[in-house]
Amino acid sequence: MKQSLGNTGLVLQERLLWEKGRKGRSGFSFPKQDVPSAVLSSEWTGPGPDFPDLSEVEVVRHYTRLSTWNFSVDNGMYPLGSCTMKYNPKINEKEAGLSGFQNAHPLLPSRLNQGALQLIYELEQFLTAITGLDAVSVQPTAGAHGELAGMLLMYAYHKSLGSRRTKIIVPDTAHGTNPASAALCGYRPVPVKSNEQGILSVESIAQAMDEETAGIMVTNPNTLGLFEENLKQISEIVHAKGGLVYGDGANMNAIMGIVDTGKIGVDIMHLNLHKTFATPHGGGGPGSGPVCVRKQLEPFLPVPRVIKKDGQYVLSEDFPQSIGKLHAFYGNFGVMIKAYSYIRSMGAAGLKKASQLAVLNANYVKERLKDVFHLPYDRPCMHECVFTDKVQQANKIATLDMAKRLMDYGFHPPTIYFPLVVSGAIMIEPTETECKEDLDHFIEALRAISKEAEENPDLLRQAPFSCKVKRLDETAAARQPCLAG
Ligand SMILES: *Cc1c(COP(=O)(O)O)cnc(C)c1O
Repeated sequence: MKQSLGNTGLVLQERLLWEKGRKGRSGFSFPKQDVPSAVLSSEWTGPGPDFPDLSEVEVVRHYTRLSTWNFSVDNGMYPLGSCTMKYNPKINEKEAGLSGFQNAHPLLPSRLNQGALQLIYELEQFLTAITGLDAVSVQPTAGAHGELAGMLLMYAYHKSLGSRRTKIIVPDTAHGTNPASAALCGYRPVPVKSNEQGILSVESIAQAMDEETAGIMVTNPNTLGLFEENLKQISEIVHAKGGLVYGDGANMNAIMGIVDTGKIGVDIMHLNLHKTFATPHGGGGPGSGPVCVRKQLEPFLPVPRVIKKDGQYVLSEDFPQSIGKLHAFYGNFGVMIKAYSYIRSMGAAGLKKASQLAVLNANYVKERLKDVFHLPYDRPCMHECVFTDKVQQANKIATLDMAKRLMDYGFHPPTIYFPLVVSGAIMIEPTETECKEDLDHFIEALRAISKEAEENPDLLRQAPFSCKVKRLDETAAARQPCLAG
């Protein structure tokens, strides 16, 4: 194993500010008082807030040290499957920070907000081109929010035809948010098993689909990182019974510029701008989950919508069949600017290349590790690949042990124990932004760990060693949570 990439553990310790503070210390000085003192409120009798007294440098060091405890795509590879933790070019952040955008206010009259409205309008058009669908609303603010919008659209569509369907087919390889969104909208999710190839079979859908079923929610590529090859035939079956096809497009970075989802029968689809289109995902910050639809669903899209009228961009609420508003104003505008900037700077050819590289990288990792880790579905994958701990179980080493050990080698662990259809899953999404050297380094680390599983399993069970926090007692953490820190 070569020298680590730079993260050999996070060892800076940091006490609480209250433990560091000393009475009378201060980070600033007020000018000398030149007016008589006054009591702020005659009713206040209790003690003041318990803030520690600290100097400026103490505060700066405290927060700077804490900031080094964060692991991010800016300081290392973060191969968390299903999350697309890819590096996002800083130019997109810069564009979103332009003062014209930053200081725009959503309540300005549209004639003073033409640039912002044009950006939204054009972004929606780009997203229709990328998905192969006809109309988009960028209002939903997360992937799951886009799904909920999609379910509401499905409901509104069936209602407009005078029918009330009660069920939605959700395969076992769908993202976990899918059945939740369907249930939140009042539908009963009907689970369907994937076949031995890890994808949906035409027969299983033919069996499950009936006229009580509003449609199907298909994550494509699915959570095994596999392309749903039978989707076109499945869509035909669902459509023939009057249902609609919902495509979860959060994994669009595997298929941009390659798959026309409209052509394979998808009627509604959400995208995650905060995965595929240049907003970092996973930081808990704002997101955007545009919902894209086929023509016959357009009247139901959320309002307001940006339309073009007499050469001006305006926000219109004049869509009587709309499902209404899903968020204040028009969603998270900052994320839209980054997506717009990303799409414009990449161009159609660049987006396609990004998808090709995401798929190439995942297949490279898969091929180079499949002789040491069990690969439950040994076939070409899309942007992520799924292994298990079956081989290492012979030495009583589990996925969790290996994930913990990976931190000693300087990598954020991949997603583990998900998808649920694979026992002991290790789900790796390298993304398109990692170069071959870094992928090789990651592969070497995992190969070294598989060797340790054979030669020194006791060591593995205690990992990590070089992290600030060592192996946690997960049972105690779950049974006796200490929420005070
Ligand atoms: C991330 C993801 C979601 C949910 O997106 P959020 O923005 O986290 O709500 C849905 N489906 C798939 C396939 C995903 O990867």
